[in-house]
Amino acid sequence: MAATIIDGKAVAAGIRQQVAAEVAEFAAEHGSPPGLATVLVGDDPASHIYVAGKHRACGEVGIASLGRELPGDTSQDELLAVVSELNVDPAVSGIIVQLPVPRHLDGARATSAVDPAKDVDGLTPTNAGLLVQGREGLVSATPLGVIELLRACDTPLEGAHAVVVGRSDLVGKPVAALLLAQNATVTVCHSRTRDLAAVCRSADVLVAAVGQPRLVTGDMIREGATVIDVGMNRTDDGLVGDVDFEDAAQRARAITPVPGGVGPMTIAMLLRNTLEAARSQAVGHRSARGGPVRSG
Ligand code: NAP
Repeated sequence: MAATIIDGKAVAAGIRQQVAAEVAEFAAEHGSPPGLATVLVGDDPASHIYVAGKHRACGEVGIASLGRELPGDTSQDELLAVVSELNVDPAVSGIIVQLPVPRHLDGARATSAVDPAKDVDGLTPTNAGLLVQGREGLVSATPLGVIELLRACDTPLEGAHAVVVGRSDLVGKPVAALLLAQNATVTVCHSRTRDLAAVCRSADVLVAAVGQPRLVTGDMIREGATVIDVGMNRTDDGLVGDVDFEDAAQRARAITPVPGGVGPMTIAMLLRNTLEAARSQAVGHRSARGGPVRSG
């Protein structure tokens, strides 16, 4: 059986096009577009590339973007002061503190200081808690992208056994919560899981978010499963995922490639999150002034 290759680039392009149209409507209605602020501390080259990519993507859909670059010796208090400033800036709808921050700083404390209404990375305890309770809030972009890809390839989730390998706050845990909200039966695996291969083989839907090149081998895939590979590992063979793509594609019904699967979805969903955050803030602002409030 040869799997359907899930084209993340195409799905992401569709979402970006839709976001661009809705951003134009938002700007016409409110007089200014949504705005995304990034906070980058130090000179980590990969972080600079990621942040530049986010700004470029904002420009392409009409979202305003603001980059705050801080020197590598910035103190925790200085970092928190920048976050506080952005929290009250009305031109800023969404804030990203680019991780990792230099070792002397506490990245979790910085991301937790973001106003939950502007937390487009979904990393504040407020948004993480809302997600676990199945309530509305901002959710990390990569997990949202995983769910969109499952939808795009018509994978039934209700009652399906979904196995998530990885339990990070950024990917594994929110993916598991979103799958549970779709009524999947969810198993979360991690580095202490016993007999990972057997657990994976019982999955109708397998999401790998580990950061270990080709950890999930073809024999760990159940025939007909849908496989979403979040992993992005730089190796001598180039960028590879957490799944051994060639072997897994022989058994899966549908599978994401790396690159070209989850990666492009992350930025698309970040743009959508920024638009959603701007909309919620506009509604909150109007209702605070006693103006009309949009429902839904
Ligand atoms: P992370 O914070 O390092 O978490 C990795 C998780 O994998 C941990 O929960 C860890 O278990 C588990 N793990 C490690 N070795 C394992 C093993 N041998 N068997 C089972 N589980 C194991 O990583 P992350 O931030 O979630 O990222 C995961 C991958 O996704 C990375 O390759 C990253 O580059 C990629 N990523 C891609 C995107 C994208 O846009 N495509 C976005 C974010 C991340 P413990 O908790 O027990 O340590």
